[in-house]
Amino acid sequence: MILYNGQFVEREEVSIDIEDRGYQFGDGVYEVIRVYQGQCFAMKEHLDRLERSSKEIKLDCPISRMKLEDNINQLIKKDRLTNGIVYLQITRGAAKRTHQFPEHAKSVLTAYTSEMERPLANLQNGINTKLVDDFRWLRCDIKSLNLLGNVLAKQEAQENQCYEAILHRQGTVTEGSSSNVFIVKNGKLYTHPANNFILNGITRQYVLRFAKEEHFEVIENTFSTEELLKADEVFITSTTSEISPVVKIDDQIIGEGRPGIVTAALQKKFEEEINKLVSH
Ligand code: PMP
Repeated sequence: MILYNGQFVEREEVSIDIEDRGYQFGDGVYEVIRVYQGQCFAMKEHLDRLERSSKEIKLDCPISRMKLEDNINQLIKKDRLTNGIVYLQITRGAAKRTHQFPEHAKSVLTAYTSEMERPLANLQNGINTKLVDDFRWLRCDIKSLNLLGNVLAKQEAQENQCYEAILHRQGTVTEGSSSNVFIVKNGKLYTHPANNFILNGITRQYVLRFAKEEHFEVIENTFSTEELLKADEVFITSTTSEISPVVKIDDQIIGEGRPGIVTAALQKKFEEEINKLVSH
């Protein structure tokens, strides 16, 4: 089922106005929440980020936080979802096409679920990646529907048989096309600071916490593509990719071409977190 404008309806019953601003301008925000064994992982953090993204683009959420949480849980039950995701988006609604905000548009919230298994092969064997120029706008901290820069980067990676694009601005690594990037050098972790150049990933925030708990030093500072290529370990984080080791970047093998020990320790912590959720 689809949660559309506060109602649960069948997909065929949803009618999107051709002048919806999400459709015409990408004028809206979204979230992807992971579901393990029918339970939402980090729902609070995702809804906090949705609120923040909305506020940053001056968009009102059409329903209350409590109702939204309840509706998401209902949606998972109605769809009998075990492993998958909930996709949520809010657009500024439909109105005669003008760039500036229309006076009378009502924001529209849509949510639906999709089945998705855990990326077990990637977690175990690692992934290949490609360095791609980051030419996106300067508010990458907003989880906006405008994903063309990310789409083009991921496509370039895929055309080169790579799972993910690692983006850089003039040699400074920012993040992945749909993930955050960490490197490990001499036992220390490095990741781009959470500023306007990256999305502050929920998985990234979990990894920062795990690293502290495991007494790994974390440096939230920029690093270069050279440092990336010379790292002992590299991994990406995201809601759907979890903590995926990077074993190749362009033609360069990372570490020994297999997941490193720091990455494995963090993956173990993540696994424990999932187990805590599903054993409730
Ligand atoms: N950066 C970008 C550009 C993304 O699209 C995502 C995926 N939402 C992330 C980082 C990772 O964020 P999260 O861990 O919250 O999924």
